[in-house]
Amino acid sequence: ESVQVADVLTPLIEQFKLKADKPVSIISEIPDRMAVTADRTHLYNMLSNLIGNAIKYSGEKPCRIRIKSALSSKEATLSVTDEGIGISEANQKRVFDKFYRVPNGNLHDVKGFGLGLYYVRDMMAKHNGTVTVKSQPGKGSMFTLHFKN
Ligand code: ATP
Ligand code: MG
Repeated sequence: ESVQVADVLTPLIEQFKLKADKPVSIISEIPDRMAVTADRTHLYNMLSNLIGNAIKYSGEKPCRIRIKSALSSKEATLSVTDEGIGISEANQKRVFDKFYRVPNGNLHDVKGFGLGLYYVRDMMAKHNGTVTVKSQPGKGSMFTLHFKN
């Protein structure tokens, strides 16, 4: 199924802005015509997990999120970038593991099961794609969904 990404993203962003308990800025730079071949519900759930995490792990800082897309002959990508607490290199390898949560003393009020990114990785594999992370502790994180053409 070819899904127009903005169709999925626009209502999702509105919902997150409404339910967040601090001001969140979510800027989508996805062109209206940008489409990926994916299951619509799963695409919604994957983006929901990534945006939800970007908000949950923003720490004390203002929450600023950017969502971008890129298209090449090989793949289409969607990335969610935050300016939150970031993830150390050692933990970047583990955040996609089932039930893994980064041990973080001063964030123990942030609840979760450690399943969101496991779901995203599993679902991207079922779409014949991958998910990658780039992050710097204290600076922020970027999660990218890669859909092979
Ligand atoms: P769940 O998604 O099941 O409610 P969760 O958010 O803890 O719980 P994941 O979404 O799988 O689980 O993320 C795993 C861990 O990776 C998180 O507990 C957190 O430590 C870290 N993490 C995920 N996204 C980010 C992010 N954007 N910035 C910083 N750390 C992150
Ligand atoms: Mg999560």
